[in-house]
Amino acid sequence: MKESTDMSTGFNLRTIYRVGYCLQRGIFADRSLGWEKVRFYALAFLIEHPVRGRILIDTGYGSALLDATKRGIYSLYRRLLPVTLCPHDSVVEQLALDTIDLHDLSYLIITHFHPDHIGALPEFSRVPWIYRADALEQLLRYSPLRGLSHGFIRTLIPSVPSGSLPITKEQFTGSWNGLASYDLFHDASLHLVDLPGHALGQMGVATNNDLFIADARWGRGELPSPMGFLIQHDIRAYCATSRALRALPPSIKQHQTHIIEAHA
Ligand SMILES: [Zn+2]
Repeated sequence: MKESTDMSTGFNLRTIYRVGYCLQRGIFADRSLGWEKVRFYALAFLIEHPVRGRILIDTGYGSALLDATKRGIYSLYRRLLPVTLCPHDSVVEQLALDTIDLHDLSYLIITHFHPDHIGALPEFSRVPWIYRADALEQLLRYSPLRGLSHGFIRTLIPSVPSGSLPITKEQFTGSWNGLASYDLFHDASLHLVDLPGHALGQMGVATNNDLFIADARWGRGELPSPMGFLIQHDIRAYCATSRALRALPPSIKQHQTHIIEAHA
């Protein structure tokens, strides 16, 4: 999906990539979706700045995730959330079709460490990351089983590339439309936004009038079923974040990381 670009100021959304999908009942994400099985497509967003270059937000699914969940404890993840990634749908291949090589990327922003957002992370071992270092350190301390209960698959994490920008909770001292934020380049071109609740250390990305909210809301934005709440890291924080996003002015375009469609 190509987006129109205005290269005169700040970061602009250039392309939205669909990178595989999983099947699950819609009601887990949004009460209005009912019990039908739906496709949750994972998205990756390419944003671009005339000086700071191209930044990818999340990777979607990837072959590394398919390999990691073939057998053993991590196969539970795939049983719960069956993943389909068609040939040539990986974000690296889709970027290549747009003649963008990985070394053309200035950074990869990791909104949080759930597998559908970092499923191709081993392929990004030379692209500097912007990531929540405090969350990653905590997740890496967990046993594989405890990590999996937080939706974390440690075998997807390569060494942190040089030039990466580790972020911690304490840095969110600013305010972007009332949300705790961090002005990443100190020029108001890109704000990282704290979006607690869904996952440990989840953050969003704000540029001009686009806000990439990761998994802070799904579907039409209604809250999930009570069972759906169980998959949130912190239910109270999730509801507070959801309310805060609902209160934002409509001029801010909110991008969820998942498109939900009927499963034919
Ligand atoms: Zn998530």
